[in-house]
Amino acid sequence: QLQPMKPHIVVLPSPGMGHVVPLFQLAERLVTHHACHVTFLNIPTEASPAQTQLLHHSPNNLPPGLRVIDLPTVDLSATINGDPPVLTRLCINVQQTLLSLKSTLSQLHNKPRALVIDLFCTQAFEVCKELSIPVYTFFTASTLLLAFSLLLPQLDREVTGEFVDLPEPVSVPGCSPIRTEDLILQVTDRKSDEYKWYLHHLSRVPLAAGIFLNTWENLEPVSIRALREHPFYQKISTPPLYPIGPIIKETEPLTPTGVECLAWLDKQPLDSVVFVALGSGGTVSAEQLTELAWGLELSQQRFIWVARAPSDVNACAAFFNAGDDVYGSISYLPQGFLERTRGVGLVVSSWAPQVAILRHPSTAAFLSHCGWNSTLESLAQGVPMIAWPLYAEQRQNATMLAEEIGVAVKPAVEAGTRVVGREEIEKVVRVSLEGEEGKGMRLRARELKASASKALEFGGSSYSSLADVVEQWKAKLET
Ligand code: UDP
Repeated sequence: QLQPMKPHIVVLPSPGMGHVVPLFQLAERLVTHHACHVTFLNIPTEASPAQTQLLHHSPNNLPPGLRVIDLPTVDLSATINGDPPVLTRLCINVQQTLLSLKSTLSQLHNKPRALVIDLFCTQAFEVCKELSIPVYTFFTASTLLLAFSLLLPQLDREVTGEFVDLPEPVSVPGCSPIRTEDLILQVTDRKSDEYKWYLHHLSRVPLAAGIFLNTWENLEPVSIRALREHPFYQKISTPPLYPIGPIIKETEPLTPTGVECLAWLDKQPLDSVVFVALGSGGTVSAEQLTELAWGLELSQQRFIWVARAPSDVNACAAFFNAGDDVYGSISYLPQGFLERTRGVGLVVSSWAPQVAILRHPSTAAFLSHCGWNSTLESLAQGVPMIAWPLYAEQRQNATMLAEEIGVAVKPAVEAGTRVVGREEIEKVVRVSLEGEEGKGMRLRARELKASASKALEFGGSSYSSLADVVEQWKAKLET
């Protein structure tokens, strides 16, 4: 019997685990569920042990039909001045690296049927136009953020002054308004390079042949409908939308720290542990770290805590280099904390196997920075959250999770400071593990877990949405 020809798809994320993880997962799904061949292009970063571990841990473990190619590394010393913030650094790295994209794509043995990029690789539009390869964008954040971002070019033309100084929340056509204090950090200073890069890439999203959304119909029904039906989004020619999520990590190779975390969880009672982790790069100030430690200790609840070294200047200080667990060097926690909480808590210094921990039956709640991947991973496992937003669009996610979806509690920041005090932390940890509010959030999270898994099943909304696109790719092959 003749094998039907398999479309060859190239997947290209910008660096950082928040982008690499979902695009890699999409690549795996295309190969294992939808009979595609995929070449995954990796943009190397200076030092990202977690990214290297994910992509190069064991090439023999990749499913047949999926291969990873590292794009040539570039010397950024001449183009990056000083220590720019994370998005600027990332965009410059991508811009320089993608100078070689055309030659990489042209050298591929089998011409790609399509290229799938994330938000910050839009240089690919011009390159692929020359090569006649359609480009799809995989939007790795919430659909509400996409709706806001598609509105951004208009806001940029019409609003004078800073968006954060607007007297009212920003009204997004057909969606929930966004409070100015919840706006994505990159748009809070319009003179900054961060803003210019964000606007540049996001204003080019309509050039895509289609947009994959990392969400599912039941999680964000209002925003999805708005993008499909609201006249504003029609007027700006929003490309066809394909909600295909939650596309999240399913398994991961375990480091010795990971093995230790899971063995420890095995010994804890069901639904008893709060997992504390602030994304791939999140860090808090020294003062906040101390309060967090005291709050956890006072709550007398069990915990696993990814407690990175504090940074007083940067909330994502570890973005490009998390993943190096340094044993025995956690000197920044309050004196005696590790001894006093021994047996009740487990502290790791940089990276824990988040998905495996969230899936473990002993895990009851997740204190998270509300990055979109972490959010999806938590909901897909039915785990309610304590929302601790730090950077990017996380405040907006936290508000949506707490006020609309009803799966998170948001600790209050002490008036006049930017710190959440130990009593407040103690309270939210207890509420999420013991209280009635916690029970309600857990029920809602479990409903969403069921609806996420239904969406991903054969015939479910997300499965079918991805299958539709693959059918279009295959149809083009046959003609
Ligand atoms: N992650 C992990 N272990 C950690 C911290 C993070 O496995 O100790 C993973 C997490 O599972 C998620 C990703 O890193 O897949 C973080 O992505 P997210 O979008 O939540 O946040 P970002 O890091 O992009 O801010």
